[in-house]
Amino acid sequence: MPSNVLVIEDEPDIRKTIDYNLSKESFKVIQAASIEEGEKALASNKIDVIILDLMLPDGSGLTLCRDIKSEPKTKNIPVIILTAKTEEVDRVVGFELGADDYVTKPFSVRELILRVKAILKRGASTENNTEDAEYSFGELTINFEEHQAYITGEEISLTALEFKLLKHLIKRKGRVQTRDQLLEDVWGYSSNVTTRTVDTHIKRLREKLGLVGEHIQTIRGVGYRFSRSTD
Ligand code: CA
Repeated sequence: MPSNVLVIEDEPDIRKTIDYNLSKESFKVIQAASIEEGEKALASNKIDVIILDLMLPDGSGLTLCRDIKSEPKTKNIPVIILTAKTEEVDRVVGFELGADDYVTKPFSVRELILRVKAILKRGASTENNTEDAEYSFGELTINFEEHQAYITGEEISLTALEFKLLKHLIKRKGRVQTRDQLLEDVWGYSSNVTTRTVDTHIKRLREKLGLVGEHIQTIRGVGYRFSRSTD
């Protein structure tokens, strides 16, 4: 079964370019030129990945992204945001919106395809994961089965990617992980992808973890490390 990719983008040229290139890679592409069309396509197809432009004729892609991620039926569909505004990237991958990745315009189609593939691979590998049920670190408790994290018993809301990143760091606590390693292991990317992605997600994860977030240490010029102990 080919994976269905929904492209919500009002510029016909960009839509067609994505369609052409993804179809060549045997994806099935469904095109939508507005939020309304996108919502219709979502309601009537099984969608595996959404590529979402932010500036759409009938509203903001940010709002649509938030809706997708808050609706139980659609919240597990990965969303890749297309944005021309670098300054929006922090918001896009952040808290409320929960987008899984972003590509800034002008983008290379090759890179976009790599990301679509990586995101699908990521989803497939989390499905058949068997884990120890629970792990505690100071005030932090992680339930691997439920994919939930708690600080002093209170649930914190992490995106699927943030959860995977946290889990990855904790399983290797005390060991430095380079940005490239994290990109490969957590994101599923090979190389030549901007490492700013890692920094942006680490920043968000730290914010959400509060004091526990201080245990994610920056190793200048190298990468990140989760402290071995809680002191
Ligand atoms: Ca647009």
